Amino acid sequence: MIPAPFDYVRATSVAHALDVLGEHGDHAKLLAGGQSLLPMMKLRLATPEILVDIGDLGELRFVRRDGETVVIGGGARYADLVASDVIRQSVPLIARAARRVGDAQIRYRGTVGGALAHADPAGDLPAAILAMDGTIVISGPRGIRTVAAADFFVDYYTTALACDEILTEIRVPATGAEKCWYERFSERSAGWPLVAVAVAGTRIALAGMGPTPLRATAAEDVLAAGGDFAGAAELAAAGTTPVSDHRADADYRRHLARVLTHRALQRAHSR
Ligand SMILES: Cc1cc2nc3c(=O)[nH]c(=O)nc-3n(C[C@H](O)[C@H](O)[C@H](O)COP(=O)(O)OP(=O)(O)OC[C@H]3O[C@@H](n4cnc5c(N)ncnc54)[C@H](O)[C@@H]3O)c2cc1C
Repeated sequence: MIPAPFDYVRATSVAHALDVLGEHGDHAKLLAGGQSLLPMMKLRLATPEILVDIGDLGELRFVRRDGETVVIGGGARYADLVASDVIRQSVPLIARAARRVGDAQIRYRGTVGGALAHADPAGDLPAAILAMDGTIVISGPRGIRTVAAADFFVDYYTTALACDEILTEIRVPATGAEKCWYERFSERSAGWPLVAVAVAGTRIALAGMGPTPLRATAAEDVLAAGGDFAGAAELAAAGTTPVSDHRADADYRRHLARVLTHRALQRAHSR
């Protein structure tokens, strides 16, 4: 449980962090809250030669409303989202998902940028941001680019980010009045979800049902055609590829997707 030796640079700005990344290529890794990267380094699943610490960059740690959009800085922590009136009022789905992550320590250290870049398929925020049709803003040596959340998650722990880029913002539509709910199942009160379901209007996103967060498109189609929640929930797992592992087999995960989707739709639309 001891990481391989590494150098450490505390970035003084996003521009400084980009310079260091540019200099060291894929030998460098950004460090934000450290809640995923440090355990991986201790297990030697990650062995960066240099860590570029962006955890204290104030320019990345913000939440603001910009017209009909809510803009979340890549360095905003889960606890910032839970405490933010803007998030609670304009994108309550994200407040609900952030509140369910891990325990207080994880929520005080873990960042939105780190969670999305780490891209665990069972992560809470990736599914919520996918359901919200969010947009990811990325800064790199070639300038600033935006990627739709639907295109950002590429495979297990793999995103559209290049090794010399930084996730600087997440943009989500301010749809405060839209019916939404976040439902998850975990065997432990402060544990990762086995499966989670984010509902925003008629959009449904699933966590833990494949290599990336997924939209439950077959269920969404049932709703779009005027079908009821039970009929939609029956198809929540259609086309998904959940794993079987020591926590649960794939059939159980499919069962959870159906049950949680039904519950999330009912709770979202009964409010
Ligand atoms: C005990 C425990 C329980 C947990 N429970 C949950 C849970 O229930 N639900 C859940 O969703 N998550 C859970 N997590 C994971 C947690 O959400 C992590 O905080 C999150 O995945 C990573 O955020 P971080 O800021 O700590 O990133 P770090 O660990 O610092 O970095 C993670 C990865 O993202 C990269 N990165 C970080 N910031 C950026 C950026 N701005 N741009 C580009 N790349 C970046 C890093 O280089 C690294 O590869 C848990 C973690 C632990 C240790």
